[in-house]
Amino acid sequence: MTGGPASAPAAQEQAGEDRIVFDLDGVRERYATLCRELPGVDVRFALKACPVDEVLECLVGLGSGVDAASMPELEHALRAGAPLARTHYGNTVKSDRDIAAAHRLGVRDFATDSPEDVAALVRHAPGARVYCRLATTGEGALWGLKHKFGCSPDDAVDILTTARAGGLVPSGLSVHVGSQQMNPDAWRAAFERLDAVLAALGERGIVLDHVNLGGGLPALDYLDRHGDPLRPPIDKIFLVLREGVAALRRAHGAHLGIIMEPGRYLVADHGTIHTRVVRMTARHLPDGTRQRWLYLGVGKFNGLYEMDMLQYRLAFPSHPAGRTVPAILAGPTCDSDDAYTSAHRPVRVPEDLASGDPVRIASCGAYAVSYMTEGFNGFAPLPRVCTGGAR
Ligand SMILES: *Cc1c(COP(=O)(O)O)cnc(C)c1O
Repeated sequence: MTGGPASAPAAQEQAGEDRIVFDLDGVRERYATLCRELPGVDVRFALKACPVDEVLECLVGLGSGVDAASMPELEHALRAGAPLARTHYGNTVKSDRDIAAAHRLGVRDFATDSPEDVAALVRHAPGARVYCRLATTGEGALWGLKHKFGCSPDDAVDILTTARAGGLVPSGLSVHVGSQQMNPDAWRAAFERLDAVLAALGERGIVLDHVNLGGGLPALDYLDRHGDPLRPPIDKIFLVLREGVAALRRAHGAHLGIIMEPGRYLVADHGTIHTRVVRMTARHLPDGTRQRWLYLGVGKFNGLYEMDMLQYRLAFPSHPAGRTVPAILAGPTCDSDDAYTSAHRPVRVPEDLASGDPVRIASCGAYAVSYMTEGFNGFAPLPRVCTGGAR
């Protein structure tokens, strides 16, 4: 670094580059809200939602544990200072080698959902504590996370019985109601299932010490398909969670510890993408209709993987007011999937945007960094910047 006058324009130029900015103060507030709404719940941040050092360190510094899904994620969590006792291997999909490596690292809590995985845990992680993941329907969520994970209530009883016979410690049940879950009834249904399996296990003399309610809590600041605020019923969801936990403890013992693994809720609304207009066009399609397209510097492959499912709040700082027109938003690559809505639904944008005009995209903090590709058409992953964070 040479410093001096030469560095000022360089810094400005960098400030003008496309980037994703995380607001650590916002993340901290969200974590505090969660702890206030769900007192006593053991929060373990789902690292895949935002594998950014500063964000992880911020959450761990506040007391969060970590839900990790691979050896690199486990190592990342421990590097950030997460306590081993509150860092678990939450992926039911893992190789013999990964199980053994995690066990050597000192990880003791593992998610499972199949007899094959339990047999591997018996061999490669003797004495480990296991959580059996129950399947859910995923209904009401933007991403259901169904089919690939989880087992039936009957299988869960068999799996934890087998685990106990193999010298593992049957420790808990886990669920995930699907990501960006908008329906409080999804958690109600999950509690009913948990209650039934805990009862069936009790009949076999298996008493668990934890229930893991997974992730799924919604981000609050997305828009709906008409461009209006989405307003997920978050207060109702918290109420259902508190009531469900109380009922489980009444039925199965006050000792029952509750874990949650939120990802999106903690980080989504506190990441903003800063990019620029590449070009606004109006073209006649083969059917003769004329369609406006707004191409931005960031799309599906460099920060907005979820953009065809979500509607983000956009801001155009160079055009705070004025006439707007409908346009279809798209990213910069030569891939037709790189568009903001798979249904090619237009959104309203300023009429006279020019190449280079700045654009801000709000609520992109979750699943942005983890889904960036390495140089699709030469577009590099977005640089990350963190603001706030002083305590
Ligand atoms: C992805 C994931 C989470 C986080 O889900 P969100 O919907 O982002 O809260 C939690 N637990 C597991 C096991 C996951 O795979």
